[in-house]
Amino acid sequence: MSTAEPASARSLGLAGCEACGLVVRLPAADGMDHCPRCGERLHSRRPASIERSWALAITALVLYIPANLLPVMTTNTPLGAVSDTIMQGVVELWSPTSWPLAIVVFVASVTIPLGKLIALAYLLLTVQRGSVQSNGQRVRLYRLLKFIGRWSMLDVFVDTFVVALIQLRPLMWVEPGAGVIFFAGVVVVTMLAVNSFDPRLIWDLPHQERHGHD
Ligand SMILES: [Zn+2]
Repeated sequence: MSTAEPASARSLGLAGCEACGLVVRLPAADGMDHCPRCGERLHSRRPASIERSWALAITALVLYIPANLLPVMTTNTPLGAVSDTIMQGVVELWSPTSWPLAIVVFVASVTIPLGKLIALAYLLLTVQRGSVQSNGQRVRLYRLLKFIGRWSMLDVFVDTFVVALIQLRPLMWVEPGAGVIFFAGVVVVTMLAVNSFDPRLIWDLPHQERHGHD
């Protein structure tokens, strides 16, 4: 990447439609703010991108606490019912035969959701500080966040799979716990937070005005 300052669409008064890709010249005043081809709202940067993204990321972090503290499954046996949080489930799965599954559940349910929030917070902080360093790496991190978002339900799938394995045994059945609802909340709110972040902010230079046309 060259270090010269490239012209951005915004500095030329242009904006790309986020829905159909049409490049449109933005009026100086707020006249046309919809794409003439498809009608999508036009903005050179997503409005209040940083504020929305922070608000959603903090909400996801708050939901992450009950998701991990409340039981995600209750195992019923003739001897009684046992409720497990995610970490208790990981500890119980940890045996000579099922340890790989324990690692998958731990990574998918504990590490990745928290890692995504830390990565997003890093992107938001560097954009707010007006950092111009390692832009390429930060864009790759953003793409990774978007990519992982598509696989966010993997942990739900894994947990369902574990439940199905346990269901096969006689005289034992499993019910989902309240933690699952908070867990789904973490996944959905994190995806919304990542979608609110405008990756074009990474390339904005600190002296450029950040809250431009909306
Ligand atoms: Zn359009």
